[in-house]
Amino acid sequence: MCLLKPCHTHLALVRAYSERMTATPYLRATCPEFLQLFPEQARLQQLGGGFTWTEGPVYVPGRQAVIFSDVRQNKTWRYTDAGQLAVELDPSHHQNGHCLDAQYRLIACSHGQRALLRQEDSGEWTTLVSTFEGQRLNSPNDVCLAPDGSLWFSDPTYGLDNPQEGYGGTKELPGNWVFRLTPDGHLSAPIRGRSMPNGLAFTSADTLLLADTAEDEGKVYRYHITVDGTATCQGVHFSLSPGLTDGLRIDQAGRIWSSAGDGVQVFSADGQTEIGRILLPETCANLCFGGPNGTTLYMTATSALWCIETNVSALSWV
Ligand code: MG
Repeated sequence: MCLLKPCHTHLALVRAYSERMTATPYLRATCPEFLQLFPEQARLQQLGGGFTWTEGPVYVPGRQAVIFSDVRQNKTWRYTDAGQLAVELDPSHHQNGHCLDAQYRLIACSHGQRALLRQEDSGEWTTLVSTFEGQRLNSPNDVCLAPDGSLWFSDPTYGLDNPQEGYGGTKELPGNWVFRLTPDGHLSAPIRGRSMPNGLAFTSADTLLLADTAEDEGKVYRYHITVDGTATCQGVHFSLSPGLTDGLRIDQAGRIWSSAGDGVQVFSADGQTEIGRILLPETCANLCFGGPNGTTLYMTATSALWCIETNVSALSWV
């Protein structure tokens, strides 16, 4: 006599799971919890196309819009909650990464101006820093807000090396560093050992993740950060394939949402486990959470802007 009875609950779950995978083939779960990060009705949406190299998305609550860069077309764009796509800056002087500071002001990395900028309430732009110890910055690429209110930004040379991504110019600094700008205006360079530092995000007050997009690197490193802003590398936190990590976001449970060659890859907080992927048709360079509830994930992927609704929101220090 067979003691095993069909488990109808289990069968129903398997059926529901497979139906969902059919409906959303771009959500590839590596761990079962991945699909729980998205509402059942969540669908991938393309919000705009025809761009050249989209990057640097940030959601600005006061504008009810996500602002993002097309670095190579030398413009920034906005996409509003009302569904309107419009040019924000033309020329943008090759702005790349953005974030909000502790007062919700827009912060921008400018390849063209080789500077970190802030947009005031009037709309005017203020140059926060463009030199370090008398030498011009390379081309600030990505920026994030630290829990202590300081701004950390990476400064690789893409805006100098690639005529499509900046105005060129001579490299003056001896390295490609990560800078820390404190709220009182003190600039330091705590991270000097990387080749092409790029996307970065704090996972806590004392831990910073930093992507290095040099061809022989392609890894995300973890740094221990002290209260006075020194940084000590603790090794590789994770690496991914295909492509390289560029933009990074952390959700409130500590999961890491990373851009990748095939879209967005989601990892456990310790970087050891891939939870799943959002597959996109082109390389994704960056991403951010936003929207009216803070749960919309926006993804800048080469020629397009995409979004999908999630059940999570970003860990935020604003
Ligand atoms: Mg970048």
